[in-house]
Amino acid sequence: MSARSRTIERTLTFPFSHHQVLDALNRPLRNLRLSVTDRCNLRCEYCMPEDEYAWLPREDILHFEEISALVDVFITLGVDKVRLTGGEPLLRRDLPTLVRLLAAKEGLKDLALTTNGVLLADHVDALKSAGLKRLTVSLDTLRADRFQRLTRFDGLAAVQRGIAAARRVFADTDEAARLSQLKLDTVVIRGVNDDELIELVEYARSMRAELRFIEYMDVGGATRWSPERVVSRREMLEVLGRRYGAIEPVAEYTSAPAERFVLPDGTTFGIIASTTDPFCRSCDRSRLTADGLWYLCLYAASGTDLRGPLRSGATTDELNGLLARGWSARDDRGAEQRLQLGERRAFVPMNALRKDPHLEMHTRGG
Ligand code: SAM
Repeated sequence: MSARSRTIERTLTFPFSHHQVLDALNRPLRNLRLSVTDRCNLRCEYCMPEDEYAWLPREDILHFEEISALVDVFITLGVDKVRLTGGEPLLRRDLPTLVRLLAAKEGLKDLALTTNGVLLADHVDALKSAGLKRLTVSLDTLRADRFQRLTRFDGLAAVQRGIAAARRVFADTDEAARLSQLKLDTVVIRGVNDDELIELVEYARSMRAELRFIEYMDVGGATRWSPERVVSRREMLEVLGRRYGAIEPVAEYTSAPAERFVLPDGTTFGIIASTTDPFCRSCDRSRLTADGLWYLCLYAASGTDLRGPLRSGATTDELNGLLARGWSARDDRGAEQRLQLGERRAFVPMNALRKDPHLEMHTRGG
């Protein structure tokens, strides 16, 4: 079946009048994770533990107008959710300008940002007024010394100022809290922060944020990953259940990676079990790096160059064809295939990361 014939019109069932392209496993293209920089101001041990990195050449980084033009093409194929990420997206100068460009697009229902929070307090008002709808702050520990060991930066106080500011801007009403406009993401690692699950739940509640625990993943860059360090969803639920009593799953259908749960007092939280129970079957996301490479899976070995065609004057139709062909052929099930491996260790060896920074999670956008 050709790329174009697999592109089906779904104007009757979808509230937008675009073509929804389906991949080889019938998965739609809905979510785009857009990395705006590969640089980061933290060196989290599960993501960027090395002393030196090969950075993307500056001249290759897409300008806001280029990103915006590509997002227009993605929208015509069914994307209605964009998440800005990185690296650390707040290191990208004038980010609210990009947010404003994207927020004005009619086809986008959701525009979110994931940040480590270090610079957030100074930017959160501008991001909100530019039209950002939702915000996720990564927070792995509430202990300053542990934060410093984990990230090689003495920054917990700054992150907590950022979260408090985000609470004021993104979680000030019951409606905002109900829509989970503010989330906190925690990567749980055995022997590092697995003794803080309860404190993190309590802290998130006090910030009117929804907490999501993420299983430690063996993605590119996680060179210190080992199976023993993964704390599974089952273990997390056991720990939380001992403290809070019966925990119920929230009944909802969504393609979001987090499975949500509710505590007896009504507090909700999520667990992203990407390592022990991957969600490839419903994965509707792809990733665009800051230099315009398009990846169809976090574990994909290579991506499609969109910067080249864009800069050499490809028309919207040509770009549309390129994306439609790429997505139609997609049959990735990266995390499931990792799970099937008997003996599992860090996904990408150090020497390969040195040669191609696109293999890094911080380049691909987490
Ligand atoms: N700098 C931003 C931040 O800290 O949120 C955005 C980029 S960061 C790569 C995005 C997310 O990826 C973070 O929540 C981070 O915790 C997560 N992440 C990075 N490496 C991971 C790993 N090995 N396993 C699970 N999550 C990981």
